Amino acid sequence: MCAAIYAARNGAKVTIIEKNDCLGKKLSMTGNGRCNLTNLDMRSECYNLSSRDRMAGWLEAYGPEDAICFFKSLGVVTLSEDGYIYPVSGQARSVVSALVNEIGRLGIEVIYKEQFKGVRTLGTDGEIEVVTGRSSYRADALIIAVGSYSGPKSTLSTGDGYYICEKLGMSIKKTYPALVGFKCKEGEVMPSQGVRCRANVSFVLGSEVLASETGELQLTADSISGIPVMQASGELTRLLSEGKPVCAVIDFFPEYDDDEFDALRKEMISLSDDRTLEEFLVGFANSNVTDMILSRMKLSKSMKMKNISQSMKECILDSYRSLKIMLGADCGYQASQVTTGGVSLGDVGQDLSYIRDKRIFVVGELLDVDGRCGGYNLQWAFTSGSIAGTAASESE
Ligand SMILES: Cc1cc2nc3c(=O)[nH]c(=O)nc-3n(C[C@H](O)[C@H](O)[C@H](O)COP(=O)(O)OP(=O)(O)OC[C@H]3O[C@@H](n4cnc5c(N)ncnc54)[C@H](O)[C@@H]3O)c2cc1C
Repeated sequence: MCAAIYAARNGAKVTIIEKNDCLGKKLSMTGNGRCNLTNLDMRSECYNLSSRDRMAGWLEAYGPEDAICFFKSLGVVTLSEDGYIYPVSGQARSVVSALVNEIGRLGIEVIYKEQFKGVRTLGTDGEIEVVTGRSSYRADALIIAVGSYSGPKSTLSTGDGYYICEKLGMSIKKTYPALVGFKCKEGEVMPSQGVRCRANVSFVLGSEVLASETGELQLTADSISGIPVMQASGELTRLLSEGKPVCAVIDFFPEYDDDEFDALRKEMISLSDDRTLEEFLVGFANSNVTDMILSRMKLSKSMKMKNISQSMKECILDSYRSLKIMLGADCGYQASQVTTGGVSLGDVGQDLSYIRDKRIFVVGELLDVDGRCGGYNLQWAFTSGSIAGTAASESE
Protein backbone atom coordinates (compact mmCIF):
# COMPACT_ATOMS: atom_id res chain seq x y z
CA MET A 1 0.00 0.00 0.00
CA CYS A 2 2.83 2.36 0.90
CA ALA A 3 4.76 1.51 -2.29
CA ALA A 4 1.62 2.02 -4.39
CA ILE A 5 0.91 5.42 -2.81
CA TYR A 6 4.48 6.67 -3.32
CA ALA A 7 4.51 5.46 -6.93
CA ALA A 8 1.12 7.06 -7.68
CA ARG A 9 2.04 10.32 -5.94
CA ASN A 10 5.06 10.38 -8.24
CA GLY A 11 2.80 10.19 -11.29
CA ALA A 12 2.67 6.45 -12.04
CA LYS A 13 -0.50 4.57 -12.99
CA VAL A 14 -0.66 1.85 -10.33
CA THR A 15 -2.61 -1.39 -9.90
CA ILE A 16 -2.57 -3.44 -6.68
CA ILE A 17 -3.20 -7.18 -7.02
CA GLU A 18 -4.43 -8.44 -3.64
CA LYS A 19 -5.06 -12.10 -2.80
CA ASN A 20 -7.31 -11.33 0.17
CA ASP A 21 -10.80 -9.79 0.07
CA CYS A 22 -9.50 -6.58 1.67
CA LEU A 23 -6.29 -4.59 1.99
CA GLY A 24 -4.21 -4.50 5.17
CA LYS A 25 -5.63 -7.56 6.91
CA LYS A 26 -2.42 -8.15 8.88
CA LEU A 27 -1.87 -4.45 9.47
CA SER A 28 -5.28 -4.25 11.15
CA MET A 29 -4.12 -6.85 13.71
CA THR A 30 -0.82 -5.22 14.60
CA GLY A 31 0.13 -3.95 18.03
CA ASN A 32 -2.78 -5.83 19.64
CA GLY A 33 -5.14 -3.87 17.40
CA ARG A 34 -3.40 -0.55 18.20
CA CYS A 35 -0.71 -0.68 15.47
CA ASN A 36 2.77 0.14 16.70
CA LEU A 37 3.73 2.05 13.54
CA THR A 38 7.38 2.76 14.25
CA ASN A 39 9.88 3.59 16.97
CA LEU A 40 11.93 6.74 17.61
CA ASP A 41 14.83 4.59 18.83
CA MET A 42 15.58 3.44 15.28
CA ARG A 43 19.00 1.81 14.83
CA SER A 44 20.28 -0.86 12.45
CA GLU A 45 21.11 -3.02 15.52
CA CYS A 46 17.36 -3.44 16.01
CA TYR A 47 17.33 -5.61 12.85
CA ASN A 48 18.70 -9.09 12.06
CA LEU A 49 22.44 -9.40 11.71
CA SER A 50 22.48 -10.03 7.95
CA SER A 51 20.58 -6.80 7.20
CA ARG A 52 22.50 -4.40 9.44
CA ASP A 53 25.12 -3.20 6.95
CA ARG A 54 22.45 -2.08 4.51
CA MET A 55 19.88 -0.91 7.06
CA ALA A 56 21.61 2.33 8.10
CA GLY A 57 21.46 3.65 4.52
CA TRP A 58 17.82 2.71 4.06
CA LEU A 59 16.77 4.21 7.39
CA GLU A 60 18.65 7.39 6.55
CA ALA A 61 16.70 7.61 3.31
CA TYR A 62 13.36 6.99 5.07
CA GLY A 63 13.22 6.80 8.86
CA PRO A 64 10.58 7.11 11.61
CA GLU A 65 10.12 10.87 11.14
CA ASP A 66 9.36 10.28 7.44
CA ALA A 67 6.81 7.60 8.35
CA ILE A 68 5.18 9.89 10.94
CA CYS A 69 4.96 12.71 8.33
CA PHE A 70 3.60 10.27 5.75
CA PHE A 71 0.82 9.19 8.09
CA LYS A 72 0.08 12.80 9.01
CA SER A 73 -0.37 13.47 5.26
CA LEU A 74 -3.05 10.75 5.36
CA GLY A 75 -4.70 12.37 8.39
CA VAL A 76 -3.32 9.88 10.92
CA VAL A 77 -2.03 11.69 14.01
CA THR A 78 0.47 9.73 16.09
CA LEU A 79 1.69 9.74 19.68
CA SER A 80 4.83 8.45 21.34
CA GLU A 81 4.77 6.09 24.31
CA ASP A 82 8.43 6.06 25.38
CA GLY A 83 9.40 6.27 21.72
CA TYR A 84 6.93 3.59 20.54
CA ILE A 85 4.73 5.33 17.95
CA TYR A 86 0.98 4.57 17.79
CA PRO A 87 -1.93 6.31 16.09
CA VAL A 88 -3.71 8.61 18.57
CA SER A 89 -6.92 6.76 17.63
CA GLY A 90 -5.49 3.62 19.28
CA GLN A 91 -6.97 1.73 16.34
CA ALA A 92 -4.95 -0.15 13.72
CA ARG A 93 -8.02 -0.17 11.51
CA SER A 94 -7.92 3.65 11.30
CA VAL A 95 -4.42 3.31 9.83
CA VAL A 96 -5.69 0.79 7.27
CA SER A 97 -8.66 3.02 6.39
CA ALA A 98 -6.43 6.06 5.91
CA LEU A 99 -4.19 4.10 3.52
CA VAL A 100 -7.18 2.68 1.64
CA ASN A 101 -8.74 6.18 1.36
CA GLU A 102 -5.51 7.57 -0.11
CA ILE A 103 -5.32 4.65 -2.55
CA GLY A 104 -8.85 5.55 -3.69
CA ARG A 105 -8.08 9.29 -3.93
CA LEU A 106 -5.00 8.60 -6.09
CA GLY A 107 -7.06 6.46 -8.47
CA ILE A 108 -5.04 3.32 -7.78
CA GLU A 109 -6.94 0.29 -9.07
CA VAL A 110 -7.23 -2.58 -6.58
CA ILE A 111 -8.00 -6.07 -7.84
CA TYR A 112 -9.15 -8.23 -4.93
CA LYS A 113 -9.12 -12.00 -4.48
CA GLU A 114 -6.56 -12.48 -7.20
CA GLN A 115 -3.34 -14.36 -6.55
CA PHE A 116 -0.08 -13.15 -8.04
CA LYS A 117 1.71 -16.27 -9.27
CA GLY A 118 4.77 -15.23 -11.22
CA VAL A 119 6.42 -13.08 -13.82
CA ARG A 120 7.04 -13.56 -17.51
CA THR A 121 9.78 -11.17 -18.53
CA LEU A 122 9.56 -10.14 -22.14
CA GLY A 123 13.19 -9.49 -22.96
CA THR A 124 15.48 -7.40 -20.80
CA ASP A 125 13.73 -4.08 -21.33
CA GLY A 126 10.22 -2.87 -22.09
CA GLU A 127 7.19 -4.34 -20.34
CA ILE A 128 7.01 -7.41 -18.12
CA GLU A 129 4.03 -9.74 -17.82
CA VAL A 130 2.63 -10.29 -14.35
CA VAL A 131 0.83 -13.62 -14.13
CA THR A 132 -2.03 -14.24 -11.68
CA GLY A 133 -4.37 -17.14 -11.01
CA ARG A 134 -6.98 -15.62 -13.32
CA SER A 135 -5.22 -13.39 -15.79
CA SER A 136 -2.03 -11.57 -16.73
CA TYR A 137 -1.09 -7.90 -16.77
CA ARG A 138 1.58 -5.90 -18.62
CA ALA A 139 3.61 -3.41 -16.60
CA ASP A 140 6.72 -1.23 -16.82
CA ALA A 141 7.62 -2.16 -13.26
CA LEU A 142 6.51 -4.63 -10.60
CA ILE A 143 6.85 -4.32 -6.83
CA ILE A 144 6.59 -7.67 -5.07
CA ALA A 145 5.18 -6.92 -1.58
CA VAL A 146 3.46 -10.17 -0.67
CA GLY A 147 4.84 -10.56 2.85
CA SER A 148 5.87 -13.76 4.58
CA TYR A 149 4.55 -16.93 6.25
CA SER A 150 3.73 -15.16 9.54
CA GLY A 151 0.32 -14.32 10.95
CA PRO A 152 -3.04 -15.96 11.60
CA LYS A 153 -4.65 -18.02 8.84
CA SER A 154 -7.07 -15.24 7.84
CA THR A 155 -4.12 -13.11 6.65
CA LEU A 156 -3.45 -15.71 3.91
CA SER A 157 0.28 -15.42 4.66
CA THR A 158 1.37 -18.49 2.75
CA GLY A 159 4.79 -17.25 1.71
CA ASP A 160 3.99 -17.21 -2.04
CA GLY A 161 6.75 -14.67 -2.61
CA TYR A 162 9.59 -17.00 -1.66
CA TYR A 163 8.72 -19.44 -4.41
CA ILE A 164 8.05 -16.71 -6.98
CA CYS A 165 11.32 -14.90 -6.25
CA GLU A 166 13.28 -18.15 -6.30
CA LYS A 167 11.86 -18.86 -9.76
CA LEU A 168 13.08 -15.43 -10.83
CA GLY A 169 16.60 -16.52 -9.84
CA MET A 170 16.84 -14.82 -6.42
CA SER A 171 18.44 -16.69 -3.53
CA ILE A 172 16.24 -17.35 -0.51
CA LYS A 173 17.79 -17.52 2.93
CA LYS A 174 16.21 -20.33 4.99
CA THR A 175 13.15 -19.03 6.84
CA TYR A 176 12.07 -19.51 10.47
CA PRO A 177 9.25 -18.01 12.52
CA ALA A 178 10.44 -15.05 14.63
CA LEU A 179 8.79 -12.89 17.29
CA VAL A 180 7.17 -16.11 18.44
CA GLY A 181 6.64 -18.10 21.63
CA PHE A 182 7.80 -21.66 22.36
CA LYS A 183 6.29 -24.90 23.52
CA CYS A 184 7.99 -26.22 26.63
CA LYS A 185 9.77 -29.57 26.57
CA GLU A 186 7.49 -32.42 27.51
CA GLY A 187 7.58 -33.13 31.23
CA GLU A 188 8.14 -29.50 32.29
CA VAL A 189 5.74 -28.58 35.12
CA MET A 190 4.00 -25.38 34.02
CA PRO A 191 1.25 -23.29 35.66
CA SER A 192 -2.17 -24.90 35.40
CA GLN A 193 -3.57 -21.38 34.94
CA GLY A 194 -2.08 -18.75 32.62
CA VAL A 195 0.42 -16.29 34.06
CA ARG A 196 1.21 -12.77 32.81
CA CYS A 197 3.82 -10.92 34.81
CA ARG A 198 6.95 -8.84 34.50
CA ALA A 199 10.14 -10.89 34.45
CA ASN A 200 13.61 -11.13 32.99
CA VAL A 201 14.23 -14.16 30.80
CA SER A 202 17.72 -15.34 29.85
CA PHE A 203 18.12 -18.00 27.17
CA VAL A 204 20.99 -20.34 27.81
CA LEU A 205 22.74 -22.97 25.72
CA GLY A 206 25.26 -24.87 27.85
CA SER A 207 27.15 -22.13 29.64
CA GLU A 208 26.47 -19.51 26.97
CA VAL A 209 23.80 -16.84 27.57
CA LEU A 210 22.30 -16.30 24.12
CA ALA A 211 20.00 -13.42 25.02
CA SER A 212 18.48 -11.72 28.04
CA GLU A 213 15.29 -9.65 27.88
CA THR A 214 12.90 -8.06 30.39
CA GLY A 215 9.18 -7.43 29.91
CA GLU A 216 5.75 -8.96 30.28
CA LEU A 217 6.16 -12.73 30.28
CA GLN A 218 3.32 -15.14 29.49
CA LEU A 219 3.24 -18.74 30.67
CA THR A 220 0.55 -21.29 29.86
CA ALA A 221 0.16 -24.97 30.66
CA ASP A 222 2.55 -25.84 27.81
CA SER A 223 4.16 -22.67 26.45
CA ILE A 224 6.25 -19.62 27.18
CA SER A 225 5.77 -16.36 25.28
CA GLY A 226 5.37 -12.60 25.73
CA ILE A 227 7.65 -9.72 24.76
CA PRO A 228 10.93 -10.92 26.36
CA VAL A 229 10.56 -14.33 24.69
CA MET A 230 9.55 -12.92 21.30
CA GLN A 231 12.43 -10.44 21.26
CA ALA A 232 14.95 -13.26 21.58
CA SER A 233 13.14 -15.77 19.39
CA GLY A 234 14.77 -15.19 15.97
CA GLU A 235 18.02 -16.98 16.81
CA LEU A 236 16.38 -19.51 19.15
CA THR A 237 14.06 -21.00 16.51
CA ARG A 238 17.07 -21.88 14.39
CA LEU A 239 18.99 -23.44 17.28
CA LEU A 240 15.96 -25.45 18.42
CA SER A 241 15.30 -26.70 14.89
CA GLU A 242 18.87 -28.02 14.94
CA GLY A 243 18.02 -29.94 18.13
CA LYS A 244 20.09 -27.71 20.46
CA PRO A 245 18.99 -27.83 24.15
CA VAL A 246 18.01 -24.21 24.89
CA CYS A 247 16.84 -23.35 28.39
CA ALA A 248 14.89 -20.27 29.56
CA VAL A 249 15.99 -18.99 32.98
CA ILE A 250 13.33 -16.75 34.49
CA ASP A 251 13.89 -14.07 37.12
CA PHE A 252 10.58 -12.90 38.59
CA PHE A 253 12.39 -10.10 40.46
CA PRO A 254 14.19 -8.25 37.63
CA GLU A 255 14.22 -4.93 39.49
CA TYR A 256 16.29 -6.36 42.37
CA ASP A 257 20.07 -6.65 42.14
CA ASP A 258 21.73 -9.59 43.94
CA ASP A 259 22.27 -7.67 47.22
CA GLU A 260 18.70 -6.39 47.23
CA PHE A 261 17.30 -9.85 46.57
CA ASP A 262 19.51 -11.31 49.28
CA ALA A 263 18.18 -8.72 51.76
CA LEU A 264 14.60 -9.46 50.69
CA ARG A 265 15.18 -13.19 51.15
CA LYS A 266 16.54 -12.64 54.67
CA GLU A 267 13.59 -10.42 55.57
CA MET A 268 11.12 -12.98 54.25
CA ILE A 269 12.74 -15.86 56.10
CA SER A 270 12.56 -13.90 59.35
CA LEU A 271 8.76 -14.07 58.96
CA SER A 272 8.66 -17.84 59.09
CA ASP A 273 6.82 -18.40 62.35
CA ASP A 274 3.96 -20.87 62.55
CA ARG A 275 2.47 -19.89 59.22
CA THR A 276 2.06 -22.38 56.37
CA LEU A 277 4.10 -22.29 53.17
CA GLU A 278 1.02 -20.98 51.37
CA GLU A 279 0.60 -18.15 53.89
CA PHE A 280 4.32 -17.40 53.77
CA LEU A 281 4.31 -16.96 49.98
CA VAL A 282 0.88 -15.34 49.63
CA GLY A 283 2.15 -11.91 48.61
CA PHE A 284 5.62 -12.79 47.38
CA ALA A 285 4.79 -13.24 43.70
CA ASN A 286 1.99 -14.17 41.28
CA SER A 287 0.04 -17.01 42.95
CA ASN A 288 0.09 -19.15 39.79
CA VAL A 289 3.88 -18.83 39.68
CA THR A 290 4.01 -19.91 43.32
CA ASP A 291 1.77 -22.93 42.60
CA MET A 292 4.06 -23.91 39.74
CA ILE A 293 7.23 -23.56 41.80
CA LEU A 294 5.84 -25.57 44.69
CA SER A 295 4.60 -28.35 42.45
CA ARG A 296 8.00 -28.45 40.69
CA MET A 297 9.63 -28.83 44.11
CA LYS A 298 6.95 -31.33 45.17
CA LEU A 299 6.16 -29.26 48.28
CA SER A 300 2.74 -29.07 49.91
CA LYS A 301 1.29 -25.61 50.56
CA SER A 302 0.09 -26.73 53.96
CA MET A 303 3.61 -27.43 55.26
CA LYS A 304 4.48 -25.41 58.37
CA MET A 305 7.40 -23.05 57.85
CA LYS A 306 8.91 -24.06 61.16
CA ASN A 307 9.31 -27.59 59.77
CA ILE A 308 11.23 -26.41 56.70
CA SER A 309 15.01 -26.12 56.92
CA GLN A 310 16.78 -22.79 56.40
CA SER A 311 18.49 -24.05 53.25
CA MET A 312 15.17 -25.28 51.81
CA LYS A 313 13.54 -21.90 52.53
CA GLU A 314 16.40 -20.22 50.65
CA CYS A 315 16.06 -22.71 47.84
CA ILE A 316 12.31 -21.99 47.50
CA LEU A 317 12.84 -18.22 47.34
CA ASP A 318 15.81 -18.59 44.96
CA SER A 319 13.55 -20.46 42.53
CA TYR A 320 11.79 -17.16 41.82
CA ARG A 321 15.15 -15.75 40.83
CA SER A 322 16.20 -18.46 38.38
CA LEU A 323 13.40 -20.78 37.30
CA LYS A 324 14.61 -23.03 34.48
CA ILE A 325 12.32 -24.19 31.66
CA MET A 326 13.64 -26.29 28.77
CA LEU A 327 12.27 -25.12 25.42
CA GLY A 328 10.68 -27.41 22.85
CA ALA A 329 9.74 -26.29 19.33
CA ASP A 330 8.58 -22.79 18.41
CA CYS A 331 4.81 -22.18 18.25
CA GLY A 332 4.87 -21.99 14.43
CA TYR A 333 4.41 -19.42 11.70
CA GLN A 334 0.74 -18.72 12.43
CA ALA A 335 1.60 -17.66 15.97
CA SER A 336 4.61 -15.63 14.86
CA GLN A 337 4.67 -11.93 14.05
CA VAL A 338 7.46 -12.07 11.49
CA THR A 339 9.52 -14.49 9.42
CA THR A 340 13.27 -14.36 9.59
CA GLY A 341 15.17 -15.21 6.39
CA GLY A 342 13.79 -14.62 2.89
CA VAL A 343 15.04 -12.99 -0.30
CA SER A 344 18.76 -12.34 0.08
CA LEU A 345 19.68 -8.66 0.27
CA GLY A 346 22.52 -9.41 -2.15
CA ASP A 347 19.85 -9.69 -4.84
CA VAL A 348 18.57 -6.11 -4.47
CA GLY A 349 20.13 -2.72 -5.02
CA GLN A 350 19.82 0.34 -2.80
CA ASP A 351 16.50 1.18 -4.48
CA LEU A 352 15.22 -2.39 -3.76
CA SER A 353 15.26 -3.37 -7.44
CA TYR A 354 16.37 -6.85 -8.43
CA ILE A 355 19.99 -6.66 -9.53
CA ARG A 356 19.32 -8.83 -12.63
CA ASP A 357 16.13 -7.04 -13.71
CA LYS A 358 15.71 -3.42 -12.65
CA ARG A 359 12.00 -3.51 -13.47
CA ILE A 360 11.29 -5.83 -10.55
CA PHE A 361 11.39 -4.64 -6.92
CA VAL A 362 11.09 -6.65 -3.69
CA VAL A 363 9.99 -5.00 -0.43
CA GLY A 364 8.82 -5.67 3.11
CA GLU A 365 9.05 -8.85 5.06
CA LEU A 366 9.63 -10.98 1.99
CA LEU A 367 13.22 -9.75 2.09
CA ASP A 368 15.73 -11.12 4.59
CA VAL A 369 14.93 -8.32 7.05
CA ASP A 370 13.25 -8.70 10.41
CA GLY A 371 13.34 -6.41 13.38
CA ARG A 372 12.68 -6.44 17.08
CA CYS A 373 9.17 -6.08 18.45
CA GLY A 374 8.26 -2.38 18.75
CA GLY A 375 7.40 -0.90 15.35
CA TYR A 376 10.59 -1.97 13.55
CA ASN A 377 8.91 -4.34 11.10
CA LEU A 378 6.27 -1.89 9.96
CA GLN A 379 8.97 0.79 9.65
CA TRP A 380 10.81 -1.59 7.32
CA ALA A 381 7.65 -2.10 5.27
CA PHE A 382 7.23 1.72 4.98
CA THR A 383 10.93 2.36 4.33
CA SER A 384 11.28 -0.28 1.63
CA GLY A 385 7.82 0.46 0.18
CA SER A 386 8.44 4.19 -0.15
CA ILE A 387 11.92 3.77 -1.68
CA ALA A 388 10.77 1.12 -4.17
CA GLY A 389 7.52 2.96 -4.99
CA THR A 390 9.40 6.13 -5.84
CA ALA A 391 12.10 4.30 -7.83
CA ALA A 392 9.59 2.12 -9.72
CA SER A 393 7.62 5.17 -10.82
CA GLU A 394 10.81 6.58 -12.31
CA SER A 395 11.70 3.43 -14.26
CA GLU A 396 11.07 3.62 -18.02
C1 LIG B 1 -0.28 -10.36 15.07
C2 LIG B 1 0.80 -9.45 14.49
C3 LIG B 1 1.09 -8.26 15.12
C4 LIG B 1 2.10 -7.43 14.62
N1 LIG B 1 2.32 -6.23 15.23
C5 LIG B 1 3.27 -5.39 14.73
C6 LIG B 1 3.44 -4.08 15.27
O1 LIG B 1 2.70 -3.62 16.15
N2 LIG B 1 4.46 -3.32 14.77
C7 LIG B 1 5.28 -3.75 13.75
O2 LIG B 1 6.18 -3.03 13.35
N3 LIG B 1 5.08 -4.96 13.18
C8 LIG B 1 4.08 -5.77 13.63
N4 LIG B 1 3.86 -6.99 13.01
C9 LIG B 1 4.66 -7.33 11.80
C10 LIG B 1 4.13 -6.56 10.58
O3 LIG B 1 2.71 -6.65 10.52
C11 LIG B 1 4.72 -7.09 9.28
O4 LIG B 1 6.12 -7.11 9.37
C12 LIG B 1 4.30 -6.23 8.08
O5 LIG B 1 2.89 -6.22 7.95
C13 LIG B 1 4.92 -6.76 6.80
O6 LIG B 1 4.47 -5.97 5.75
P1 LIG B 1 4.48 -6.53 4.25
O7 LIG B 1 3.84 -5.47 3.43
O8 LIG B 1 5.81 -7.02 3.88
O9 LIG B 1 3.53 -7.83 4.29
P2 LIG B 1 1.98 -7.98 4.69
O10 LIG B 1 1.58 -6.93 5.65
O11 LIG B 1 1.82 -9.40 5.06
O12 LIG B 1 1.22 -7.67 3.33
C14 LIG B 1 1.31 -8.56 2.23
C15 LIG B 1 0.07 -8.40 1.38
O13 LIG B 1 0.20 -9.21 0.21
C16 LIG B 1 -0.96 -10.00 0.03
N5 LIG B 1 -0.55 -11.23 -0.66
C17 LIG B 1 0.15 -12.27 -0.18
N6 LIG B 1 0.39 -13.19 -1.15
C18 LIG B 1 -0.18 -12.69 -2.28
C19 LIG B 1 -0.26 -13.15 -3.63
N7 LIG B 1 0.31 -14.30 -4.03
N8 LIG B 1 -0.95 -12.40 -4.52
C20 LIG B 1 -1.53 -11.22 -4.15
N9 LIG B 1 -1.46 -10.73 -2.89
C21 LIG B 1 -0.79 -11.45 -1.97
C22 LIG B 1 -1.48 -10.23 1.44
O14 LIG B 1 -2.84 -10.57 1.43
C23 LIG B 1 -1.19 -8.88 2.09
O15 LIG B 1 -2.24 -7.96 1.84
C24 LIG B 1 2.85 -7.82 13.48
C25 LIG B 1 2.53 -9.03 12.84
C26 LIG B 1 1.52 -9.84 13.33
C27 LIG B 1 1.20 -11.14 12.62
